Amino acid sequence: MKYKHLFFDLDRTLWDFDANSEEVLIDMFNKFDITTLACIDYQEFIDNYREINHALWAKYRVGEITKEFLSTQRFYATMLEFNIDNWEMGKEMGEFYVKESPYKKQLFPGTIELLESLYQKYDLHIITNGFAEVQTIKLEQSGLNKYFKQIIISEETDWKKPNPKIFNYSLQKAGASAEESIMIGDDLKADIIGASEAGIDQIWVNFDNTYAGFKPTYTVDSLKKIEELL
Ligand SMILES: [Mg+2]
Repeated sequence: MKYKHLFFDLDRTLWDFDANSEEVLIDMFNKFDITTLACIDYQEFIDNYREINHALWAKYRVGEITKEFLSTQRFYATMLEFNIDNWEMGKEMGEFYVKESPYKKQLFPGTIELLESLYQKYDLHIITNGFAEVQTIKLEQSGLNKYFKQIIISEETDWKKPNPKIFNYSLQKAGASAEESIMIGDDLKADIIGASEAGIDQIWVNFDNTYAGFKPTYTVDSLKKIEELL
């Protein structure tokens, strides 16, 4: 293998975002006593939240809304679905979520085994879209920090994946060339097509075996298979 530098995405590639997010949302549902307040069960709450959050993230990613607006609006709008019109509560829920979620530690099966094996042979780095204060705590709390040399968080740069500029910046920070690097991530657009446009090979972590109208350099459906590949 010609690779020397492996760039990893964090959320939904190594850190099990959905499992961790669900833990926080359950904590929040109980803390804010939402059953009593809105006469709904947890599943209704989370289904609505996920749909609203997904749409707002799409806007945040292209710079249409700010981080502060996203943080409050996703809970304000969720509660509004259940006729609770309370901006202040949305704000408190948003703060609770951002504060608590990075302390959750669920990783995908095989994460530590994979990194233990790879970091002896390659320089490992992270490129993640997200809030700096959140991503930094996640990496510390989940024990992932020690495996990575460079940690590039979009909020600390001027760009977000899939903008090729964040990949070029990451190469420069790692002292790597595109030819000796590979990007590993779950998001076809942000991680895979983005890296491809920066001239970097890619491993698409496609846990759900979804169809892609794009051919990544490699595709795997488990972390274990990355180890076999590299
Ligand atoms: Mg991801």
